[in-house]
Amino acid sequence: MPKCPKCNEEITTLSLIQSERNFYEFNAQGSIYERELINQWDKDFKCPKCDEGLFDNEDDALSFLNNGKEGGKNGGDEIS
Ligand SMILES: [Zn+2]
Repeated sequence: MPKCPKCNEEITTLSLIQSERNFYEFNAQGSIYERELINQWDKDFKCPKCDEGLFDNEDDALSFLNNGKEGGKNGGDEIS
C-alpha cells in the first residue's frame, strides 16, 4: 500500500479537490466579457489523513496509488 510522504500513513485513496477557473476580460467601462477556451480545471490531490497537498495532476496521483500494488500485470520495463 502506498504511504503518504508527509505523514507516513498508508493510504488507498486521495482526496481530490477540483475547482474550475474562469477567465474574463474586464475593460475600462466596467464590462466583463467571458474569454473563450481558456477555462481550466485546477486539480489538487490531497492525503485524506493529513490533508497535505501531494499531487496536482492525475498521472502522478495514479502512479502513486498503484505503486506497491501486488500482483499487477503491468510489470514491463519502462524505457524512456
Ligand atoms: Zn498524509
